[in-house]
Amino acid sequence: MARPACARINLQAIRHNYQCAKQLAPQAHALAIIKANAYGHGAVAVAQALQAQVDGFGVACIEEALELREAGVQGRLVLLEGIFSPDEVALADQHQLTLTVHTIEQLQWLLDAKPKQTIDVLLKIDTGMHRLGFAPAQVKEVFYALQRCSHIGQVVLMSHFASADATQASTTSEQLHCFRHATQDLSAPLSLANSAATLAWPATHGDWLRPGIMLYGADPLDQPNAASQTLQTAMQLSSAVIAVHELATGECIGYGGRFQCEQPTKVAVVAIGYGDGYPRHAQDGTPIALNGQRTRLIGRVSMDMLTLDATGMAVKVGDPVELWGETVLANEVAAWADTIAYTLFTGITSRVSRYYHG
Ligand SMILES: *Cc1c(COP(=O)(O)O)cnc(C)c1O
Repeated sequence: MARPACARINLQAIRHNYQCAKQLAPQAHALAIIKANAYGHGAVAVAQALQAQVDGFGVACIEEALELREAGVQGRLVLLEGIFSPDEVALADQHQLTLTVHTIEQLQWLLDAKPKQTIDVLLKIDTGMHRLGFAPAQVKEVFYALQRCSHIGQVVLMSHFASADATQASTTSEQLHCFRHATQDLSAPLSLANSAATLAWPATHGDWLRPGIMLYGADPLDQPNAASQTLQTAMQLSSAVIAVHELATGECIGYGGRFQCEQPTKVAVVAIGYGDGYPRHAQDGTPIALNGQRTRLIGRVSMDMLTLDATGMAVKVGDPVELWGETVLANEVAAWADTIAYTLFTGITSRVSRYYHG
């Protein structure tokens, strides 16, 4: 028998979640964001599952785009960080990639290139996140330079929000205001909304949504809303019990003896650990499901194993354990490990086999 740690991916849930994004803004297009191996779900499999219904895909870089093209994925494919050197323009031309442009250097590489076909562009504007993008005052000049260039095709005006998940904060409205001001006289499609903005900030929807985490069923909002409640969990990370022990009051479990039994305790050892991507920082009490029933992690997570509290539960070697999925949400585990579902999903290592259904 193989080691039981595995991730089951429900492709139907991902298609459903993509449609949720589309329904929130029926007039808009939506780029399915599948960077970082589709947030750990497998970029080729996710792209193939969405291909028939999607308006386009977004990835971080050309390496990720080429993997998809080599697997036969067609249609619009956007590089969200654009290119890293001028020689990548030829590859982008050959594979019909859409490029984000966020620096003068990238702009110059594009203008100097001699592609065979026109290249579509997302012009990125820094409206307050201060990570990537041209300053608002530069936008018109860059936009007109792109428009004058005969080998540049469509130009979409784009920005990214720092705090769209914070549903009560004013920053998203301020960034939207800055964006509108910087782009007011320019006639071009607009792209602003990540998952959180798609779900919670309708005024930001524009022409091209960019949903990422919501496709995988994790709610990014600090306060769930009606739309985020309709998302379906796409990944179940699971493994199985490989040993069961009865411990007496006062005995300690695992490295550093972090958990000390306050009563006679039944402990189940599970074949999954931080070497598989389960967060080592998960605290005692982190929810975990044994035979479909919620219980808690006890003791420090090891590289290949972790331990759960099975006191009062029927348990034997081989019983299934869900680390996250429908019974225990990835967002819950993330909160107990001081992180976010994004890092849990992308952190799953190659040792974990992925199985697809739906
Ligand atoms: C990753 C990314 C997204 C998707 O963000 P989510 O929070 O996962 O929806 C959207 N836009 C850009 C530019 C990104 O880099």
